[in-house]
Amino acid sequence: MIFIDSHTHLNDPELYSFLEEEMSYSRENNLKFILVASYDLESAKRAILISQKYPECHAAIGLHPENMQEAKEGDWDEIKSLMQDKNCVAIGETGLDYHWVKDLKEREKQKRLFIEHIELANKLHLPLTIHSRDAAQDTYQILSEHVPEQGAILHCYSYSVEMMEQFLKLPIWFGFGGTLTFKNAKLVKEVLSSCPLERVVTETDAPYLTPEPFRGKRNEPKNVIYVAKKIAEITSLPLEEVTKQIAKNIEKIFHVKLL
Ligand SMILES: [Zn+2]
Repeated sequence: MIFIDSHTHLNDPELYSFLEEEMSYSRENNLKFILVASYDLESAKRAILISQKYPECHAAIGLHPENMQEAKEGDWDEIKSLMQDKNCVAIGETGLDYHWVKDLKEREKQKRLFIEHIELANKLHLPLTIHSRDAAQDTYQILSEHVPEQGAILHCYSYSVEMMEQFLKLPIWFGFGGTLTFKNAKLVKEVLSSCPLERVVTETDAPYLTPEPFRGKRNEPKNVIYVAKKIAEITSLPLEEVTKQIAKNIEKIFHVKLL
């Protein structure tokens, strides 16, 4: 059985300082595809370094909406040039985060940067990994007007079943992570139950969102097995079938051979 972490931050200093250790855990647990998502220039450089070193790791290059304000002049140009690296297999993470941003001008800036990421992905024929928080309608509107031609993963999907049905009309996959294992996560469980398995991928978003039974500790890619097990439990499908379908989905999005 093989496992996939379609969104993780081995490039975050918290995990990067334990990279060797993390990679040996992930190999022991048979993780065959790990997408290292960047959020700023330094994390993008580290994502490339990690994917050069470990063949199962691949880089997603982008500027996270939350890191947009701190980015220095010239960072965005350097990030764009890293997108050309052969280890860059996806654009992101990008998207919209309105949780702490109430100012409309700032939200407009996020939208423009998000659209730019989608256009770059289409130009480079790459899929996207998308972060979207408290911005369901705008995310949907942008994605329907600027369709990601090579597909996109809405990582750590947190919106309603109705919204998911809208997104399903587009080439969108849904990333499920640690939140699925939380006791009070009724909505995300409901969403997973109504989502076709052909559109589901597993992720950790490590070092964040640690799944049960490790909640409170630092999250790491190997914990994706607890997410896959939870998906099997919720869908009442054998774990083997779940992991196989998820690997197939990843093969389709990233044009890789895993099975
Ligand atoms: Zn992330």
